[in-house]
Order: sequence, then C-alpha cells, then structure tokens
Amino acid sequence: VAESSDCIFCKIIQGDIPAEKIYEGDQVLAFLDVGPLSDCHTLVIPKFHCARLDQCPAEFLAAIAKSLPMIASAVVETVDADGYNVLSNTGRAAGQLVGHLHFHVIPRHTGDGLFKSWPANKYKEGEIKQFAKKIRQNIQS
Ligand code: 5GP
Ligand code: ZN
Repeated sequence: VAESSDCIFCKIIQGDIPAEKIYEGDQVLAFLDVGPLSDCHTLVIPKFHCARLDQCPAEFLAAIAKSLPMIASAVVETVDADGYNVLSNTGRAAGQLVGHLHFHVIPRHTGDGLFKSWPANKYKEGEIKQFAKKIRQNIQS
C-alpha cells in the first residue's frame, strides 16, 4: 500500500499519530475529524496515498463505497441525525486542505444551519445541452 512520509493521514494509517478510529478494513480507514462541523463528523480514507478521486485505484474506491453506508448508518444512529452529507473536497479551489483523498460524513440535524447557502444558478437558453454534449465528449471510460 502506497504511503507518503509527509502526509498526516498516512501517519494516522501507520499509527504514527493518534486518531479516534471507528472502522478499519484492509483498504479503508474511518476516524473522527478533529475539527467537526457537527458531533461525530467522520473521515473515510483509502489506505493508499493519493490526493484525488481520479488518482485512486478502483479496488480502494470500491472498498470505500462498500464501507460508506455502514459507517454513515453507525454515525447517524450515534447522534440520532436526521440526515448527513457525504462530500469530498478536491483541490485547493474546492477547500481541500489535506492532500490525501478523504470523504467527509457530516451528520445533519433539521435546522442546524450548516451549509445554509446553496447558491444555485440558472443556465442560459441552450447552455445545458451544450455543456452536457462537451462532457460526454470528454468522458474517458
Ligand atoms: P479538507 O478541507 O481537506 O476536505 O478537510 C480536512 C479535514 O481533516 C478537516 O475537516 C480537518 O479538521 C481534518 N483534520 C486535519 N488534520 C487532522 C488530524 O490530524 N486528525 C484528524 N482526525 N482530522 C484532521
Ligand atoms: Zn497520505
């Protein structure tokens, strides 16, 4: 399993720095975020050093996908949440501070006021079709 010596999450995987681990598999680790947006805010990471989703081997992503519902259910039960957000900040522009791929599981309660603003825009006439066409051309499966 690849690791990076100057990565804080790789150090948590190695046990070199402490974390409140809540689930560990061969390819996945989940632990509590030390700067929670709400109680039991959890981070789920591949046990493979990569910064971004598109750099993560499929087997690690599959393991994350498999564990996320189980982890989310346990977290929700623990804090009696009404819902949760799963999100991955990718790149500085998107707010990524730690350069090891991670998925936030953020428990939500009705009226908690988190992410109050969701600044939705509208497309101009015909624009949505043009964007969809361009993306389809860029899909590399
Ligand atoms: P990002 O902004 O990169 O998506 O989120 C990084 C998250 O990692 C932040 O929510 C931050 O609180 C958390 N974090 C940073 N350093 C540590 C650490 O050493 N231990 C734990 N448990 N969480 C950390
Ligand atoms: Zn790492």
